[in-house]
Amino acid sequence: MAAMTTLTFDSLNPATGQVVGSHPQQSAEAVHEAVGRAEEAAAWWAGIGPAERRRRLLDYKAVITRDLRELARLVHEETGKPVGDATLEIVLAITHLDWAAKHAQKVLGRRRVATGMIGMNLSATLEYLPLGVVGVIGPWNYPVFTPMGSIAYALAAGNAVVFKPSELTPGVGVRLAELFAESVPEQPVFQTVTGLGETGAFLAKDPRVKKIAFTGSTATAKRVMAACAENLTPIVAECGGKDAFIVDSDADLPAAAEACLWGAMSNAGQTCVGVERVYVVDAVYEPFMRELTERVARVKAGEHYGPITMPGQLDIIRRHIDDATKTGKIVTGGPESVRAPYVDPVVVEDVPEDSPAVREETFGPTITVRRTRDAQEALNLANASAYGLAGTIFSRNARRAMELARAMRTGMTAINSVISFAGVPALPFGGVGDSGFGRIHGADGLREFARPKAVSRQRFALPGMNLTSFSRGQEELDRLIRLVTFLHGRRKR
Ligand code: NDP
Repeated sequence: MAAMTTLTFDSLNPATGQVVGSHPQQSAEAVHEAVGRAEEAAAWWAGIGPAERRRRLLDYKAVITRDLRELARLVHEETGKPVGDATLEIVLAITHLDWAAKHAQKVLGRRRVATGMIGMNLSATLEYLPLGVVGVIGPWNYPVFTPMGSIAYALAAGNAVVFKPSELTPGVGVRLAELFAESVPEQPVFQTVTGLGETGAFLAKDPRVKKIAFTGSTATAKRVMAACAENLTPIVAECGGKDAFIVDSDADLPAAAEACLWGAMSNAGQTCVGVERVYVVDAVYEPFMRELTERVARVKAGEHYGPITMPGQLDIIRRHIDDATKTGKIVTGGPESVRAPYVDPVVVEDVPEDSPAVREETFGPTITVRRTRDAQEALNLANASAYGLAGTIFSRNARRAMELARAMRTGMTAINSVISFAGVPALPFGGVGDSGFGRIHGADGLREFARPKAVSRQRFALPGMNLTSFSRGQEELDRLIRLVTFLHGRRKR
């Protein structure tokens, strides 16, 4: 009876408005039950050991690869993005799944650590144990790649996952869990719960969930964190960005323009690490803009990229374009570029740094471009953002580019390419400031979903050095002081 009264919601194709699928709005009880099942599954999954988990995850990878085309079609239908782009994000997710499966044991497995002079009679081991149930709250812009950055690493670390996909892409979320069950039929190690924001809130509030991996807006991350605070549940927050693209005086300008355009406009700009602000050194400003404007004229919404997936986002994009075109100088497009659900590319120069189009995340196919005296000024402007997710440097001088990249206040920087770090599974992904905290991907991403377990074992008693005892005498303390003075007492100036 209860199942018959469950409310449902539809996922729509944003390009056509057609219904792609209908899904239950899962209640607090349904989420509670899913977490209960996940707790049992987590114990089983932890118990089968790393070698078997690796085998199952590699099988899951093969199952996704087998169904790549069908999954890409579903991503295309729910997000509106071209099938080619959907394919690309799934391929990236597959490479992450592969890396997480193959490296989990090496990164997390038990190892001996040095004990130091004072602990010379001890042996010490460190390992990273599963947390239990991990809740993943995902976005709609890359509905396979982004949540898989948490799901694959959490599963490889030995946890069970309950995944709440965005209400815009529930079908993709359901399919990811169904495919997993082909490789792991015994227990619901990876479940998807569907619904609106409140379903995600139920997940965040459940005390049996040991970590929440959230991807979405900074504002919602704060709400999720507040819910998690109730149970002291830790969270990984992957929020938005306002990524800068710096073109130095010695950059390969055609390559920079090409990369800038793709970084800004692909996926209709709905990329957390998409290019939103461009800073170009004065010496190459005009030639770079010629390269950029020539190319941008050939890029069309509905052909090279899809519609804006979330209808409400159009208002933000429109507001930023209106503001930028009033305060800056239009290079390409303008307010008329917004023809819902599509937005054609918009490039605006000289927009004041304190305007919403430069400060707030637009999440649309728009960029602001500004001339700077030199690369240092470009870097200072790039860093003057509340966000700090990623960025790009174009320069032929490898040393200088590396200096700039290291000084950029972000979690990731690409040099002479855009977003390339996302395709390197060994590199951690995450931001600073309003872009969030914690890391997915790489060894840090595996450790994010595990708890360090430290064990020290006394191998023999140190004669005359029984320090942790009430029978300790003054001679033992004197001996300790002599030892510590020998080891640490010399000042080096
Ligand atoms: P949200 O941050 O609101 O949503 C992200 C996820 O959180 C979704 O699964 C959402 O579910 C869920 N959610 C919403 N409210 C709650 C809650 N109270 N408790 C738990 N989970 C919740 O992002 P939007 O999709 O609304 O997009 C808004 C903006 O976020 C965009 O304009 C963009 O700037 C930014 N964004 C950034 C992304 C990134 O990659 N960093 C990805 C997506 C968006 P539901 O969808 O059902 O509401």
